[in-house]
Amino acid sequence: MNTDKLSVRLTKVANYVPQGARIADIGSDHAYLPCFLAKNLKISYAIAGEVAKGPFHSAEKNVLAEGLANTIAVRLGDGLEVIEPGEVDCITIAGMGGALISSILENGNDKLDSVKRLILQPNISAISIRTWLLENNWELIAEEIIEEDSKIYEILVAEKGNPAKPYIEKKEEGLLLGPFLMKQKNEIFKKKWTAEKKNWQRIYEALEGASLNAETIEKKKELTDKIRLVEEVLKS
Ligand code: SAM
Repeated sequence: MNTDKLSVRLTKVANYVPQGARIADIGSDHAYLPCFLAKNLKISYAIAGEVAKGPFHSAEKNVLAEGLANTIAVRLGDGLEVIEPGEVDCITIAGMGGALISSILENGNDKLDSVKRLILQPNISAISIRTWLLENNWELIAEEIIEEDSKIYEILVAEKGNPAKPYIEKKEEGLLLGPFLMKQKNEIFKKKWTAEKKNWQRIYEALEGASLNAETIEKKKELTDKIRLVEEVLKS
């Protein structure tokens, strides 16, 4: 991957950035995504935010080397604290766990007034993001699931709107599996959830040998519910 050629995963994220957007890419690492978007004239301005000094310096180096310092501001800081109110209209956060992405959005909620679109790519626990979006008036408008280098990734896109709309038919299933992804139910989706189900079954069997207490009973029930829910969606 470099500033000319993104991974499939980041290409999907890039595709959802509106033409002419002012973006903040949080956890930008090498700043490949904002550099690629600026070089392809898709954005008018970007902030590449990084909390860690190593990736921050690497982002700075790449932006300077590409001659993009007038378009991309590289800033060191935690989550959305690198954004001034009103500076951007689109935020991308990719390559982290869903819980971390949700906590970044929650901690920086006051910076989201001017933001029209969120493009989020959790490596795990997309449910944390869907739940946060639902509770914070962001409507999920699109989802994708892709496989690259034997890893499966989800991309979630949200705009301000009716947060309950995607979940009108099935809320619990939608939050866990993704309302758009479960409707589409492509081969990658089936592969992901078949593997998750097998993993839960393994954990359940291991618990069969454990001593019965309130905690194991609760855990077993939780696993049974999730296994049943996934089985129903996969066979429907
Ligand atoms: N976004 C790039 C991608 O998708 O390829 C890089 C992903 S990299 C695995 C995650 C990056 O997020 C790391 O560089 C890490 O330092 C940064 N990061 C983690 N927590 C952060 C936070 N709270 N604020 C800003 N950056 C953060």
